[in-house]
Amino acid sequence: MNVILLGAPGAGKGTQAKRLEESRKLVQLSTGDMLRAAVASGSDLGRQAKGVMDAGQLMPDDLMVQMISERIDQPDCRTGFILDGFPRTTPQAKALDTMLSGKGLRLDAVIEMKVDEDILVDRITGRFSCIACGAGYHDKFQVPVKAGVCDGCGGTEFKRRADDTEETVRTRLEAYRGQTAPILPYYLEQGILKTVDGMAAIDEVTRQIEASLAP
Ligand code: AMP
Repeated sequence: MNVILLGAPGAGKGTQAKRLEESRKLVQLSTGDMLRAAVASGSDLGRQAKGVMDAGQLMPDDLMVQMISERIDQPDCRTGFILDGFPRTTPQAKALDTMLSGKGLRLDAVIEMKVDEDILVDRITGRFSCIACGAGYHDKFQVPVKAGVCDGCGGTEFKRRADDTEETVRTRLEAYRGQTAPILPYYLEQGILKTVDGMAAIDEVTRQIEASLAP
C-alpha cells in the first residue's frame, strides 16, 4: 500500500507516519528528514537546502522529484510507503503520478490531515524530540513524564528544528496555503482523497486514518 499524508506543517504527519510504519509495515519517506540529513552531511544539496529551509520556502520541484524517485527504488519500499512532506506542489503531484506509473506502482490513498491554522504556530514552536530515539515532545502539550528524560529510551538530549521559529513557521504556512493545499482537488478528482480531523487527540487521528485505509 502506498499512501500520502498531506497537511499543513505541524498537522502531525510525522507522528502518524511513524505509527503507520508500525501498524502497516510501510516505510516513511519524509523529504524534510532527507533534506535535514543532507544539511547535516554538509553536501552541496545540504548547503542549498539549509538556506531554503531556514527561510521557510520550498526546494525546486525537479530536485525533490528525483530525490523521492531514487528513494522509492530502494528495496525496503517494495512493501509500500508513506509519503510525508511530498508532494508539496501541483507539478510534484503530477510528476509523482507519472513516476509511479513508470515504476508500475500507484497511490492507494491520500490522507488530508485537516487542522485549524491558528493553533499550528503554537504546536510547531513548542516541539522538540529525543536525539537518541526521535520520540516527539512539546513544551505545553506533551512533556516527558520526568523532565529532561525521554519516556521511550531514557535519553537526556533533545533537539529542536532550526525552522521551527515563529517567523519561519508563518512563511511555511503561507507556502502550504498557496502551493500545497491546491493539490487537494487533484486527488479529490481521482477519488482517492480521505480527510481526517488532525485536531483530534493523537490516538483518535490514528483511528480515523486506519478506518480510512480499511478496504
Ligand atoms: P518538513 O519537514 O516536511 O516540514 O520540511 C521542511 C522543509 O524542507 C520545508 O519547509 C521545505 O523547505 C523543504 N521541503 C521538504 N519537502 C519538500 C518538498 N516536497 N518540496 C519542496 N521543499 C520541501
